[in-house]
Amino acid sequence: MIQVICREETYIYNAYHMTKAFYPSAEVVSRIEEKASNYVTVMVDGEMAAAVSERELAKGPSGKVSSVYEAGIGEKKHQTDLALYGQLKAKTGRTLSWGILMGVRPTKLAMQKRREGMSPEEFLRWFQENYLVSREKSVLAWQIASKEKELLDRLDTKDGYSLYVGIPFCPTVCAYCSFSSGELSAWRERIDDYLKALCNELAFIARTSEGKRLNTIYIGGGTPTTLSEAQLERLLTCIDLNFSREHLLEYTVEAGRPDTVTAGKLAVLKGHGITRISINPQTMQQQTLDRIGRKHTVEEVKNAFFLAREMGFDDINMDLIMGLPGETVREAKDTLRQIEELSPDNLTVHSLAIKRAAKMTEEEIKNAECIGDMIKEAAGAAGRMGMSPYYLYRQKNIAGNFENVGYAKVDKAGIYNILIMEEKQSIVACGAGSVSKRVYPDGRIERSENVKDVALYIQKIDEMIERKRKLLTDF
Ligand code: SF4
Repeated sequence: MIQVICREETYIYNAYHMTKAFYPSAEVVSRIEEKASNYVTVMVDGEMAAAVSERELAKGPSGKVSSVYEAGIGEKKHQTDLALYGQLKAKTGRTLSWGILMGVRPTKLAMQKRREGMSPEEFLRWFQENYLVSREKSVLAWQIASKEKELLDRLDTKDGYSLYVGIPFCPTVCAYCSFSSGELSAWRERIDDYLKALCNELAFIARTSEGKRLNTIYIGGGTPTTLSEAQLERLLTCIDLNFSREHLLEYTVEAGRPDTVTAGKLAVLKGHGITRISINPQTMQQQTLDRIGRKHTVEEVKNAFFLAREMGFDDINMDLIMGLPGETVREAKDTLRQIEELSPDNLTVHSLAIKRAAKMTEEEIKNAECIGDMIKEAAGAAGRMGMSPYYLYRQKNIAGNFENVGYAKVDKAGIYNILIMEEKQSIVACGAGSVSKRVYPDGRIERSENVKDVALYIQKIDEMIERKRKLLTDF
């Protein structure tokens, strides 16, 4: 058991997550003690492992801060993080590839510095010195920020917007899932009611967005292809009746679970102009698939992929998760070898993140140590398939403190994925648990959330629309 004790609230987030990253498989708890003598203390099994005191901060690791009382809170926090990192590194003998960067998107910083006119070399030096980020990750952040900029420049950020449609049903719930997805068997009887509510919401959005240009549509979840052919047809027809595809750059439907993919459903998607689908194996190891409750086979992944190719889908994404229970670099390499044989157009490589809602517990993650090697293998495989990295995000509780990276072949990058991260364009979202984001010209962002519970969503659809009406006034 590890305790992180902070004197002020402001230190707790970074101290907790940094300690967790240095001790990935330990239970870490945190608390505030206003009378504590140190800014941050870390106790491991009752013994002090790190302590950042006022005296230490007064020295300042760079010698820049002569007195903590003279330093602003941002500077003090930064110095505290650096000092804590140094002590935990000495104690554990480990380094963190993202250094002290906690809860900040690396690409956001890279974008900002790019705008300020920093050269690549200046950025790499600044990132490594200020945040102790490894050179390899600094290069990745810069490379992705440059790619994101190129793609975002193609978007209409003034009159354009994107649409998200949530289908929160899956055939079974995976052990690592933290979305508010429900098992199809429990909701089968209510799906038509759900689609009716969804179509009301879509019609309202269409009316409110008249004169705007719809740039991307993303139908996610859950697993949208859990819907029957007739239900998919009904949903996509409702979208077609309400929205023009004239300015659409990308139309994605997640077909994440291969056991939901049929020729009939793919034909419905094709018929409604879907340009991009996602078939997600997560791993190509049958033992692991069984263990994490995916309830489908490796063969089904391949069959769904070949079927989609045969039917003309030329932009297929595949999601993988590195660090699933029981897997080592050997299994990851074998999965990547099989993915290379399929050669999808996009590959999204996640590092396993365990959130509270997931059934899988942190004790099951014994292999966080080798995730770094696994993601290197994945980067190599993506490169061999002719892909380059185009988006990156990090999550809380991500095993080994690594990152999720999207790779794409030329002209196959998923624009919506970047929009979610960079918040440069409004995303109007409908369906249970969805969150709409309105981005104002001055960069201000307002959000409106729909209730997560499917039954409540159906019951309160008028209230969800009312929330949206407020958000989209003068849209
Ligand atoms: S397919 Fe995705 S959304 Fe559905 S249960 Fe599995 S992880 Fe959750």
